[in-house]
Amino acid sequence: MAHFRVNERCNGCLACVQNCPASALAHEDDGKRRKLLHNMTRCARCGNCWRICPHRAVEFQHLLHGPWEEVVTMELVRCAVCGEPLYTADFGENLAEKLDRKVEPLCPEHLKAHPYSVWKKLYPDTATLDGRGE
Ligand code: SF4
Ligand code: SF4
Repeated sequence: MAHFRVNERCNGCLACVQNCPASALAHEDDGKRRKLLHNMTRCARCGNCWRICPHRAVEFQHLLHGPWEEVVTMELVRCAVCGEPLYTADFGENLAEKLDRKVEPLCPEHLKAHPYSVWKKLYPDTATLDGRGE
C-alpha cells in the first residue's frame, strides 16, 4: 500500500515536485504519459507538497496514519513460576552460550527468592530428592 497518495484532482503541474525540500518527489514523462513518483525513504513528511498543491490533490493524512505491521514473531520464554514474560528463546540461547551455563527462566523476583516451590517448578522430576517433597 502506498503511503503517499494523490487523488484524481492532480493535474500534473509539478508544483509539489519543484518544492519538495527532500527531493522525494519526481516525475517521469514517458511517451504520452506523465507519472508522478514518490520515494518514501527520502520523504521528511514535512507536508510542503500538501500545503503547496493548488488542487488539494495530496492525501497527506496517509503519511501520518498507518497500521502497526508485524515484522517478526518469536518464541517467548516466561518465568517458570509466575509466567511473567522474560525474553525470547533465541535470546536465552545466546545468553546461555555466552555465560556457558543454563539460564533458569525466572523473573528477578523469583530468581532472588529461589524458594523450594521455584526449584520444584524448574526440576519437577527431582522434587523429592532431599525428602522435602509433598
Ligand atoms: S502540486 Fe498537486 S496538482 Fe501539482 S503535480 Fe503535485 S499533486 Fe499534482
Ligand atoms: S512531505 Fe515533504 S518531503 Fe515528503 S514529499 Fe511532501 S514535500 Fe517532499
